[in-house]
Amino acid sequence: MQTPSPPVPPPVTFDVVPDVLQVAERAFDRGLCPECYGRLFGRYGHGLTNPERTQRLSHALGRPVPVPSGPCTLCAGAFDRWEVWVARVRAATDGWEYHRFNCGSRWDPERLAREEMLWTEVGTTWGESARSAFNRELGKRVEKLAGADGVIQAPDVVLLADLPTGRLEVTVLPLYVRGRYLKEDRTLPQTRWPCRRCQGRGCDFCGGTGKTYSSSVEEVVAAPFLAASGGEGSRFHGMGREDINARMLGTGRPFVLEVLRPRRRALDLPALESEVNRAAAGRVAVRELAWSDGAEVVRIKEASPTKSYRVVLRGATTDAKVNEALSVVAGRPIAQRTPTRVAHRRADRVRARRILAAHLVESTADRFTIELRAESGTYIKEWVEGDGGRTDPNLSQLVGAPLTVELLDVLEIHDRTG
Ligand SMILES: [Zn+2]
Ligand SMILES: [Zn+2]
Repeated sequence: MQTPSPPVPPPVTFDVVPDVLQVAERAFDRGLCPECYGRLFGRYGHGLTNPERTQRLSHALGRPVPVPSGPCTLCAGAFDRWEVWVARVRAATDGWEYHRFNCGSRWDPERLAREEMLWTEVGTTWGESARSAFNRELGKRVEKLAGADGVIQAPDVVLLADLPTGRLEVTVLPLYVRGRYLKEDRTLPQTRWPCRRCQGRGCDFCGGTGKTYSSSVEEVVAAPFLAASGGEGSRFHGMGREDINARMLGTGRPFVLEVLRPRRRALDLPALESEVNRAAAGRVAVRELAWSDGAEVVRIKEASPTKSYRVVLRGATTDAKVNEALSVVAGRPIAQRTPTRVAHRRADRVRARRILAAHLVESTADRFTIELRAESGTYIKEWVEGDGGRTDPNLSQLVGAPLTVELLDVLEIHDRTG
């Protein structure tokens, strides 16, 4: 076996040129600790800690930079208490799994302002702020403590050291899981629907559940994740949503599940996917589960894919009339005013939408099954029934007889094919 050679440290560079020496003289006796004194030159040279910079400067000056007898006039000893801060991090994160973290600190603004004044007074152009140095130094120690990586983007936890109070605040970031769901159950809303009477607190009307419907796609999907992660709640973001009584078929609807304040993060996604599918068999199925992030929530909310539907409608008409009506709808603009049924929660306005294709699939007596593809945001039920003329033109009008939607299914969300 060969012993790997140790990594070669970067060369140390720290030339005490006359400009540097002048600043070192001016800062000499200002009650700064070795960290704060050295940090006046923090962006000068490479490969040294700030106390090591102070050492080099003492040597160059020919006399040691005095160590203050009391607390440092700049940091008040913030850089002398690493064991205390590390203990606080350990206590505050006890029981929370994390692999990626971000360190921040809150300082007395006056202290930070004093530091900038000091830079001007001594004439340094190499100063590094106490806050960024503290964050970096604390980060190094947390990396060792937790075996975790200090990161800027997408941390699992944010650790904030509040210097004036000595508190360590932990923000636990959510887990994001994306996937696609299919729904067979015509009684299931997409998300938890709080009881209208009690706003979710629980009342006689909702039997104390706080909900209008006993379950939802969100709850069915989230349950095993909450159990496995110890999370405190969930948010469910769908790429749009179908009506409660509509099935979601085809390859399913993209979603992101957000698990709030998870205690455990290294979850077995394939196992959880099977668990959801076993527990919800015949009602909901999920597929293609994968780790995701907050940016995907934005992407999913901004997407506007076309969608295919199957509609079973009823009316006193004929195949010939339905065929004739469907032959003229493709590509023709529809003016669709906010439907009556959603007017209480959406702004009342007129949207222009298009049906891209439509055809009759089958019929029996007064029931007609049609399939169609429509632009994102088209209200299909209203397009068929007319919504009292608020959708114009509408299929009832084109056929010349009032039609009603009996069943509606989403056959496909065309987010991958455009
Ligand atoms: Zn200091
Ligand atoms: Zn209630």
